[in-house]
Amino acid sequence: MRQRSKEEQWHQAVENAGQLPDYLYINGERVYDSSLQSIESVDPGSGRSIGAVPAGNRQSIEAAVVAARSALQGPWRDLPPRERGQLLWRVGEAIRADKARLALVETLDNGKPLKDAEVCVERCADYFCYYAGMADKLEGSSVPLGAGKVCFTEHVPIGVTGHIIPWNVPLNMIARGLAPALTCGNTAVVKPAEDTSMTALLVVELMEKVGIPPGVVNVVSGYGHEAGQALAEHPDVHHVTFTGSVATGKTVMSAAAQHIASVSLELGGKSPHIILDDADLDRAVPDIVRAVFANSGQICSAGTRLLVQKGIYNELLDRLTQASSKLTLGHGLDNKDLGPLVSAKQLDTVNGFATRAEARGIKFVSGGQPVHPEGFEQGFYFPPSIAMDVPVDDELANDEVFGPILSVISVDDLEEAITIGNNSDYGLAAGIHTRDINRALKFARGIDAGQVYINGYHGAGDTVPFGGFKHSGIGREKGLAALNAYYEIKSVVVTLC
Ligand code: NAD
Repeated sequence: MRQRSKEEQWHQAVENAGQLPDYLYINGERVYDSSLQSIESVDPGSGRSIGAVPAGNRQSIEAAVVAARSALQGPWRDLPPRERGQLLWRVGEAIRADKARLALVETLDNGKPLKDAEVCVERCADYFCYYAGMADKLEGSSVPLGAGKVCFTEHVPIGVTGHIIPWNVPLNMIARGLAPALTCGNTAVVKPAEDTSMTALLVVELMEKVGIPPGVVNVVSGYGHEAGQALAEHPDVHHVTFTGSVATGKTVMSAAAQHIASVSLELGGKSPHIILDDADLDRAVPDIVRAVFANSGQICSAGTRLLVQKGIYNELLDRLTQASSKLTLGHGLDNKDLGPLVSAKQLDTVNGFATRAEARGIKFVSGGQPVHPEGFEQGFYFPPSIAMDVPVDDELANDEVFGPILSVISVDDLEEAITIGNNSDYGLAAGIHTRDINRALKFARGIDAGQVYINGYHGAGDTVPFGGFKHSGIGREKGLAALNAYYEIKSVVVTLC
């Protein structure tokens, strides 16, 4: 009886989501190309199909880049910057106004709980509004060269920008690169992740509804090795913004290098979260849980390596086990604490890490195996999992799982925590809990990470620069720093007669 009602609710939700995109979006038009294969969109919570998007190919990317190039020559780059900013502000408003539908589609396509999808819609809108205000403030400078010369600099758009998007927070990732790129007067081709293309296609239509000219933003769904590769390789794409794995980041960087395009790379992480013996555990415990299990652990900056000072190790482990056992898991529509993982493939990956760890003798004090919530047995669920006493050289302490597994490691002191924390190819984020400001700041100075949190992981938002050290990436997104990737500086030198 209960199962039937869940199924009915699911069908109702799919109906409420309305007609889902089954086209590419190029030059202001929906493009239906029957010669293309399609990629099925699967609801990770139920394992059922909700639709399909075209697998755009090299020719689709070519058409999108041609459209973006000609839109660049059109009114877009020459628009008075304030008008460009006003249009981008309206994009933000339109996204917010369509929150219910965008969030529902994101939940069905990506799996995240509906309340989290709603926050993603808000963040997506925030990016456009934040950068909209900068459109008319990108000022050049004047450089003194003596009495006989006048020299000034201008910010000039780079041209066509390519955006290759991952599946974990699609709406945020689309806006994070597009908003600063458009603010600076560039045009764009977006290649969403194959598992989660729906909301990118919906957002681009909203953009044009509020007046962004056709061709300024184009969306080509498709496979990474085909559409993504073609975009990174295209000689008319002058900057590639890529968010995804380190391995693909290297491929993208080398493709862009063939035509000297610049890149922004936001890659993976295995971020250390240090808990010293003077920490306020009442604050630390919920923070650790959020840091690692939010979005079912599918967050690049998740605090996945917990380095705990010896004296509080057992108490903290007990408290974490209790806290994680209270977390609820279920279909995104049921709005539990955790939703499913994005795909069967990701569930296999995460389960593989857990199974191999157990085979090596590592003990899970909670979770460690896939689960099958009633009514959604075919979904891709893995519970919040805590592995204790993980050896520092184990793969679970070093490799990015991108799922809800916390590796707990005991350390003697802050110095050892910093050494272990830095003994990684990654350097995206790091956190510490301590009541001692000196130890906190010593940690912030000593750790190789693009973003450091003291007594509260995450929560920096879209106005704070974000990006990685070492293999975690190149460049910074978010905040004013992100704009630097999207303009050239032209210096004009006048010799007076
Ligand atoms: P992925 O590298 O497999 O795919 C990312 C995107 O690249 C997808 O759109 C994919 O289709 C495309 N792609 C794949 N092969 C390509 C190729 N040869 N050329 C061009 N494009 C190609 O990564 P994923 O599995 O989608 O995402 C998970 C990874 O992303 C994790 O490592 C995670 O840490 C990272 N990530 C980082 C951030 C950040 O801000 N640093 C944010 C989210 C995710």
